[in-house]
Amino acid sequence: MSSPSFDPHATTVHAQCLCGAVQLDAKLPSLWLSHCHCQRCQRAHGSAFVTWVGLEAAHCEVRDPQGFLRWYLAETQAERGFCTHCGSTLFFRSPRWPGELHVVVANLTTRLDRAPQVHTHWETHVDWCAIDPNDGLPRRRSEDA
Ligand SMILES: [Zn+2]
Ligand SMILES: [Zn+2]
Repeated sequence: MSSPSFDPHATTVHAQCLCGAVQLDAKLPSLWLSHCHCQRCQRAHGSAFVTWVGLEAAHCEVRDPQGFLRWYLAETQAERGFCTHCGSTLFFRSPRWPGELHVVVANLTTRLDRAPQVHTHWETHVDWCAIDPNDGLPRRRSEDA
């Protein structure tokens, strides 16, 4: 099903929540791909970090025939989209990144067109999950993100 590797020739991508009620089909190319270590992502997803892909919102089609998708609005005006049936956290959008939909890479069922490029919010990365110090990716702090 899902694959961690990428295909530079991929032209579309598909994502879905755990129960499959919420689905996304999007056209590539993607805009960027990053591992986010911010505390908001850690808490929203219950994980050490979250890998996100940035997509053109205009190239994304979300299907939610049963109306399970809800958006949690944070005080930062950022919104996190999740499935109220199975609890999967799927999407992020914010006025800070107009025209973009950010999608959780772990929910993809097809390959992306690029590999991860950067660690962001590195100053809050956890010390209980080892990350390869030689992965070659830059470590950015919040102020440069
Ligand atoms: Zn679901
Ligand atoms: Zn984050």
